[in-house]
Amino acid sequence: MKKITDEVLNCNKCELWLYRKNPVTGQGSLNAPIVFIGEAPGRNEDINGLPFVGSAGRILDELLKENGISRKEVYITNIVKCRPPRNRAPKTSEVKSCSHFLERQLRIIQPKIVVTLGRHSTAHILSEAGVEDDNISSVHGRKFTTELFGMKFTLIPVFHPAAALYNPKYKTALEKDFQIIKNEIEKL
Ligand code: URA
Ligand code: SF4
Repeated sequence: MKKITDEVLNCNKCELWLYRKNPVTGQGSLNAPIVFIGEAPGRNEDINGLPFVGSAGRILDELLKENGISRKEVYITNIVKCRPPRNRAPKTSEVKSCSHFLERQLRIIQPKIVVTLGRHSTAHILSEAGVEDDNISSVHGRKFTTELFGMKFTLIPVFHPAAALYNPKYKTALEKDFQIIKNEIEKL
């Protein structure tokens, strides 16, 4: 993982390297049974070099805490490691350029469960895993037993925690979906 972090620090494989202050490789346990995959670093993440440390991070922390999951026992990363300008969604080409880092991270950690946070990460990961329906509104909270980068995982897509900031409907859905995640962890 140290090697990956060093490579990410020096990476200029897509144009996002031009805008970053600090790339965000990821954070958490290398023995984590579960990996959370968000979209891209935002402003606070770019400043701190850590994932989900801004307002979306506060919601994620709440959801983890409510379910007795410690941030230290999970691993959190994103589909792209550098902040897109003005927080725009990462382009498909950027996700593709960055995806080998994620693949290698998953190979090191070998989690049993992968949770995608939000529609961009869900669409990318589910299509990578060969799942046809990748619409977050229909797939959130569902469990997909499937292969990703040649490894077997239970994939669980959920809404992006930031969505809960502007619409309580998403907060309720996230709370329900995190209970499913918790139940899945308890089965391990
Ligand atoms: N939103 C994301 O998708 N990822 C982060 O790391 C922070 C906010
Ligand atoms: Fe490299 Fe990924 Fe950053 Fe693009 S987003 S420059 S591929 S680390």
